[in-house]
Amino acid sequence: MTADLPAEKNTVAARLREGRRRLAACGIDTAELDARLLLSHVLGCGPMELYLQQDRQLTAPEAGCFKAVLARREQREPLSQILGEKEFWSLTFRVTKDVLTPRPDSETLIEVALARIPDRAAPLRILDLGTGSGCLLLSLLSELPNASGVGLDISDAALDVARDNAKRLGFADRTDFLISDWTRALDPEEKFDIILSNPPYIGEAEKDSLPPEVRHYEPESALYAGAEGLDDYRKLIDQLPDFLAPGGYILFEIGAGQAAAARALLQARGVSDVEVIQDLAGKDRCVCWRP
Ligand code: GLN
Repeated sequence: MTADLPAEKNTVAARLREGRRRLAACGIDTAELDARLLLSHVLGCGPMELYLQQDRQLTAPEAGCFKAVLARREQREPLSQILGEKEFWSLTFRVTKDVLTPRPDSETLIEVALARIPDRAAPLRILDLGTGSGCLLLSLLSELPNASGVGLDISDAALDVARDNAKRLGFADRTDFLISDWTRALDPEEKFDIILSNPPYIGEAEKDSLPPEVRHYEPESALYAGAEGLDDYRKLIDQLPDFLAPGGYILFEIGAGQAAAARALLQARGVSDVEVIQDLAGKDRCVCWRP
């Protein structure tokens, strides 16, 4: 064991302190938590187990590995991409730079969709547009034992991640993932009971205020949607009604402050059955509508 530091600086506790200090110096608010999660990732233990190992020395490979992941985080690479996973709806999703990291805000869509399903044992069909990691579709399937669904994405690399997540979570036989520019690849006869999407919705004005983790590391095609961030809603609102089964619902994630614009777009197309739902932080996050 030849670590590059004297023994007292090579313990779990000392390395954690160093990690926290370095990440805080880069302006990372969650420095303590991030350092803890990175070190537990390197050591292959749970973050709580670190407390029991405060005095344990890191081996040279462990120390090298921790140094490398800290350097990545210092560059503001998202923790989810360094760890390669993120929890969503109590499920663990594989995450790469090719997909948007699942965010707790998006769990609002799952709650809203579930609240509108009268019989969870029904053989429902679900469509998820811009599926990314597959987190929306797969989380819904985890609650609906007889449902099946289609995930569409314009990125082949994202679809690989979604398929991998479906396999890992045991939903491969209830899902199809297809490359598609919005609804283009769908059979025009196909109907779905729940249609949902977390499309790109960031406008020009907002771009500069995004944290570096998002701006420099997450896929642009999952984030930006024209001057006001509404371009993809327009396309979806035009295309989706043809694919909705009678009695079904369409759900979109929206950015905080977009509810009025989304409502106006829907009203301009004659849709009056529109509900806006807030996330846990009280921000408008989901638009639920039917034509
Ligand atoms: N909620 C994401 C963010 O602000 C954006 C996701 C999206 O555009 N669909 O980082």
